[in-house]
Amino acid sequence: TLAEIGLIGLGTMGAALALNIAEKGFPIAVFNRTTEVTRRFHAEAGALAANVIPTESLADLVASLKRPRAIILMVPAGQAVDDQIAALAPLLDKDDLVIDAGNANFHDTNRRAAAGLPMRFLGLGVSGGEEGARHGPSIMGGGLKADWDRVSHILDAISARYQDIPCATWMGEAGAGHFVKAVHNGIEYADMQMIAEIYGILRDGLGHTAGDIGALFAAWNEGVLRSYLVEISAAVSEATDPATGKPMLDVILDSAGQKGTGRWTAIEAQHLATPVPVIEAAVMARNVSARLDERKAGEARFGAAPKRLAGADAPSAATLEQAMIAGKILCYAQGFAMISAASDSFGWSLPLPEIARVWRAGCIIRSDMLNDMASALTENPGRNLILAPDFAARLEATIPALRQVVALGALNGLPVPALASGLAWFDLMRTARGTANMIQAQRDFFGAHGFDRLDGRDIHHGPWGS
Ligand code: NDP
Repeated sequence: TLAEIGLIGLGTMGAALALNIAEKGFPIAVFNRTTEVTRRFHAEAGALAANVIPTESLADLVASLKRPRAIILMVPAGQAVDDQIAALAPLLDKDDLVIDAGNANFHDTNRRAAAGLPMRFLGLGVSGGEEGARHGPSIMGGGLKADWDRVSHILDAISARYQDIPCATWMGEAGAGHFVKAVHNGIEYADMQMIAEIYGILRDGLGHTAGDIGALFAAWNEGVLRSYLVEISAAVSEATDPATGKPMLDVILDSAGQKGTGRWTAIEAQHLATPVPVIEAAVMARNVSARLDERKAGEARFGAAPKRLAGADAPSAATLEQAMIAGKILCYAQGFAMISAASDSFGWSLPLPEIARVWRAGCIIRSDMLNDMASALTENPGRNLILAPDFAARLEATIPALRQVVALGALNGLPVPALASGLAWFDLMRTARGTANMIQAQRDFFGAHGFDRLDGRDIHHGPWGS
């Protein structure tokens, strides 16, 4: 029998996705650059091996597929994808479909979509890590709707489900799916960083042990903050290192890796002139984290900050929880605003409420709060989330705690860059008469750039000439 679909790249994600597809009853043909990996994959597929056709050349792979063919690429983003497309080109018909399911930069997906490839092409953002790929990821698709429709029955079947509806959605043409995935990853960086900042206050400011912090996060995971990232933060905080018996967190080097998707989001936000300061702060903090020697030299020169919070200075657990709730709302408000800006700029109609829903299960940033965000965005997708009545009320209730936490951090040398950036953005956003009149005056003074006046008079330059 011929396979429904093919897959190239049996690495962490590809192998998991292939097993997921096979398990849902779709015969799948697989190929991997290193043949040994394909053989091992097939040998270890257990009962699912019956639904897997292992192939040892691209020609074999192509010959094993039903027509019109569909082939998923799960190889590293960038050159490897272009190379695979080039290698497949002579083997495929123009109606065959290549699906790039890696973490492509959406500009690359736009470029490929516009390049007039000799086959059809979809860009798929897949979130949820290995576990998600194996048992149900969240899937954000981009390309021609007709091409999406050809494979959507398979994508629906393998994706996560929320209230029985698959978390797999066509977002728009070309790079729309990979764009939404990039913003997802940017928000993921920000959520992780805010948790790490609160962890820092608990560890360094309040002297709590990793185990106590884990218990607190576990408690928060029963409330408004219920989410996959808070859940796993509790789990990693409570884990013990088998080698030393110490808390796992206490033996892990404080230098964070990244593959660049958060950075892409921050860079793209700058291009779109749409502010995502919480995400930018999170990318910045990862970059600083990697500068271990410089940080050591900094501490040697300036001394460790006082840090320890005591007495009236010590924030309660409830204050920290509320600060995180406020930070999370601000971060998502920025992320969704960025998606809106991209719709305008790239001619997409990115479905904001549907994006909140697709992120509800399967992906790394899944959380209960996304339900309420989906509702608020359904009510009015054009309104900034901070102005939706439900979220405005929550911000009114939690901003004082965020203010307290950011102030304590600033006064005591506890770094809270993401939380502080969120607060600074909020304060800018709630100030009707800002200070850019000073910027405009300066620009007019040195560059005769002109300004508009509050009184609407038709006078656009100041008296600074001579
Ligand atoms: P792995 O490193 O585990 O696997 C990479 C796979 O690609 C291997 O099968 C490898 O084959 C193959 N490969 C590497 N280079 C080439 C090449 N030049 N030509 C052909 N095949 C090649 O990566 P992942 O599975 O983690 O990631 C795959 C994609 O999925 C990436 O774009 C990644 O960003 C994305 N992704 C990853 C997630 C994760 O949690 N890991 C989550 C979401 C997306 P070989 O065995 O021969 O080396």
